[in-house]
Amino acid sequence: MKTLIDENQLQDGIRRFADEIGRSYTDKPLTLVGVRIASVLVLADLIRLLDMPLRVELLKTRRYQQDDARPGPLAIDLALLSTAVKGRNVLLVDDIFDTGHTLWELIPQVDELGPTSVRTAVFLRKQDRSEVSLKPDFVAFNIPNEFVVGYGLHYRDQYRNLPYVAALTPEERAEELNR
Ligand code: 5GP
Ligand code: MG
Repeated sequence: MKTLIDENQLQDGIRRFADEIGRSYTDKPLTLVGVRIASVLVLADLIRLLDMPLRVELLKTRRYQQDDARPGPLAIDLALLSTAVKGRNVLLVDDIFDTGHTLWELIPQVDELGPTSVRTAVFLRKQDRSEVSLKPDFVAFNIPNEFVVGYGLHYRDQYRNLPYVAALTPEERAEELNR
């Protein structure tokens, strides 16, 4: 396992990330929507670092497999989100922007709930992986194209608790599978 972002770098980067978000919205009320459980560590940091009135929601999504085992469309439980989104500035907070398909599919669905604005903040963005014409509005860290864990991101339920971000080698991922 190779450390990509150590604890100090991580804390500094998160503070810059929160400052940029704070300056951009000034003191306007904001709704933070964490995208799935992997976002909760960064979500908690933003809650602590932002000064404006905040509403906070957590979104669950599931991607159903199609019959041919290809990934199907993203199913999103939007039912409870409506009042936190309608007529408000919404910031979707995601763990990592990889292909970008998750946010690409999510944004129009959140838009249907009538927000004033919808923007995106991602903890990590992988270089040269995007398959969509969407750029996240706020990025804490750009990282190389490696499989990463830590600070909410897991591999087979492990490593979410790391206070830093590390890359797993393909061998390490295979080893875990054989345990
Ligand atoms: P997307 O490809 O839609 O941008 O990202 C989908 C999801 O794939 C991310 O939210 C994240 O949960 C997962 N993912 C993508 N790359 C990595 C990675 O390097 N490590 C981990 N643990 N999850 C990843
Ligand atoms: Mg995610």
